Amino acid sequence: MSVMNRSRMDELTGREVPTWCPGCGDFNILFGIKSALAELDIPREDMVLVSGIGCGSKLPHFVNTYGFEGLHGRVLPVATGIKLANNKLTVIGVGGDGDAYGIGGNHFLHVIRRNLDITYIVQNNAIYGLTKGQTSPTSMQGFKSPSTPSGVLEEPVNPISMGIAGGATYVARGFAYDPIHLKKLIIDGIKHKGFSLIDVFQPCVTYNKINTVDWYKENTYKLEDKGHDPTDRVQAMKKAEEWAPKSVPIGLFYKEDKPTYEQGLPQMLDKPLVKHDISNVDISEVLEGFK
Ligand code: SF4
Repeated sequence: MSVMNRSRMDELTGREVPTWCPGCGDFNILFGIKSALAELDIPREDMVLVSGIGCGSKLPHFVNTYGFEGLHGRVLPVATGIKLANNKLTVIGVGGDGDAYGIGGNHFLHVIRRNLDITYIVQNNAIYGLTKGQTSPTSMQGFKSPSTPSGVLEEPVNPISMGIAGGATYVARGFAYDPIHLKKLIIDGIKHKGFSLIDVFQPCVTYNKINTVDWYKENTYKLEDKGHDPTDRVQAMKKAEEWAPKSVPIGLFYKEDKPTYEQGLPQMLDKPLVKHDISNVDISEVLEGFK
C-alpha cells in the first residue's frame, strides 16, 4: 500500500473501536472497505455508509465518514433515499445475511431491479450472530441452532442467483479471509455505474461452527482462475448455482452496463436534487392536503 493510501486509511479510521469477537470476519470486511475507499481516494464528505442491525451493521461507527445505522433490514430504502437526494455521493450499504435476505428480503428484490448506483456489501456468515446464533436465510440445510435444534429443513436462499435474476448489474462474492481479493471486488463494485451486490463469506467464530475459515478455504475457488466470463449471463447463473464440496465459486459472477435509475430522472441530470433552489417553490397547496 502506498504512503498516501496508508495516511488515507488512518484518516478513515473512526474513533470507536470494534467490539466484534476476536477472529470475526467483520474485521477483514472493515479492512476491505476502508482500503478500497483509501485506494479510490474519495473525499470523506462525498461518501455515506448505511447499515441495518446486526454485528456487522456496527461498521459505519468504525469508519470516519458519514454513516447511518438504521432499522433491521432497512439498509436499501435508506440508501435509496440518500442516493436520490444527492446522487453525487458514493453510497455503500452494509449488513448481514439476515438483515439483507431475511428481514430486508423484500427491499432487496425491489431495489436491485432499479439499478441505482449503490454498492451493497453483505456480511454473510449464515447465522444471526447478534441475537446469539439463530438459523438465518443462508444457513445450510440441516444446520442446527437454538431456532432449529433438529436441523433446518428448507434449503438456503442463494443471494447470487437472486441478484442476477433480480437485475443487479454487478454481482460478486468475496471471502473475508482473502481481504486483497475482497478489496478488488469492492473497488470494482464502487466504480461500477449501477447496483453492485457483493456477498461476502465470513466466519462467525462464536456461533457458526460449520462454516469456519477452514471450511471456506477448503470449499471455495476463484472464478477468475477458471476463465469465467462475467458478461455471459447464462454462464453466470450456472456458476451461481454451483455449491458442492470443494466447488463453491467466489469472485465476479456477472457484470452488465446499462443506464442507472438516476439517469432516467431529468431533475438530477445537471445537479443533485439537494442543490436545487426551492426557496421560491410554493408548497402550501400540498400542505393543505394533509389537513
Ligand atoms: Fe462476529 Fe459472530 Fe461475534 Fe457477531 S457473534 S461479532 S458475527 S463472531
